[in-house]
Amino acid sequence: MAVPASPGAPAAQQCSDEPRDLPVHQFTDHRELGVELARIERVSGGAVEVTEVGRSNRGREVWAARVGTGPKAVLLTSEIHGNEKTGTDAIVRLLDWIGTSESAKAQRWRSELTIVAIPKMNPDAAELDRRGNDMTWDEVTARFPQLRGSEPAWNYYTEPRQGDDYSQRPGFDVNRDYNPDLGYEPRPEDFPGSSAETGWFITPESRIVRDVYLGLTHEFGKVDTYIDLHHQGACYVMPDDPDEFVTMSISGKFVDDPASTPGYERYAAGYDLDYSKRLNVAAYHALQGQANDNPLFGNITLYPQDINLPGTGLGTFALNGSGAVLFEVRGQTQTLGQQYRAQLTRTVYIGLDGILSALATGRVDQLDPAVYDSIPPRGPSIGSTAVRATALER
Ligand SMILES: [Zn+2]
Repeated sequence: MAVPASPGAPAAQQCSDEPRDLPVHQFTDHRELGVELARIERVSGGAVEVTEVGRSNRGREVWAARVGTGPKAVLLTSEIHGNEKTGTDAIVRLLDWIGTSESAKAQRWRSELTIVAIPKMNPDAAELDRRGNDMTWDEVTARFPQLRGSEPAWNYYTEPRQGDDYSQRPGFDVNRDYNPDLGYEPRPEDFPGSSAETGWFITPESRIVRDVYLGLTHEFGKVDTYIDLHHQGACYVMPDDPDEFVTMSISGKFVDDPASTPGYERYAAGYDLDYSKRLNVAAYHALQGQANDNPLFGNITLYPQDINLPGTGLGTFALNGSGAVLFEVRGQTQTLGQQYRAQLTRTVYIGLDGILSALATGRVDQLDPAVYDSIPPRGPSIGSTAVRATALER
């Protein structure tokens, strides 16, 4: 719950979640991403292999970059919400380093891990610089005629949101379109659904990621780790200091325990919350380790743990047995624009480096999941639209 800031708190006077038009040109757009990935493939001598894994609803390429030949498969995705852009920049830098470095560390990553990254997995939303894509319900029913006559999905936006006018250009929150039954096909009786229920794979973008996940599962037996990169509200503060903004919140828990949730029991055997906690601890340690250089890297909190979102990519893949990590850096483009781009991209990079290092060395298995539970919880949002800010996330 958001609570008002104490009167005169300096941070409160600086922060607002009110949508604004802010420059975003420093971020990597879809065309630039294609150029960058091709360059990385070239300079890495093919160590990084880039393939088009599908097309978005508007026909834009969705690319996957694969590097490493190790037995542990790691899947990374960014920009499922198109106004949450730092993850894409962090992935590009990471791929560049993994593909070209001759350091012992990079060699170990390449020999122990197979990393598949799908940066900017929702390019239609990314080009619009907004949360949702611009697929219409008519386009859905043209593709899935069995849904004609159904009420549109609950995550179909048709009203203004975060400063974007979905009434003129409606679209979907793709990150509610997943279903832990990876072979699921849309059924009319499952609509309109709700946040606590599973999604449908009605968007091309969620189907693309699912298909990559299934391919890796077929090849490796399982996807060891799935990491999804997001932004949250701009005005969350540390729980013990209302003048310090949260740089990033992290999480390994997105769904209720399947063992005790009716209808989800079949996922209980593979679900491993402790493993997700260890992965998050690796990111947390890495960032705390950099806090002496820059205190902002120390302002890491746990994302709320009381959520149950089986229709998210993270919820779906965690139920399918992958260790799962959510990164939520500070502020979407409509609240901060590119103002903190370098610092937030660096935060994501350090966190990813921590996780991938722990995976490549095997150190992840020695980490204590109890440390996860000691990460401070996110403090309140002190922005001028604090109550609405709770909707501006995930
Ligand atoms: Zn998000």
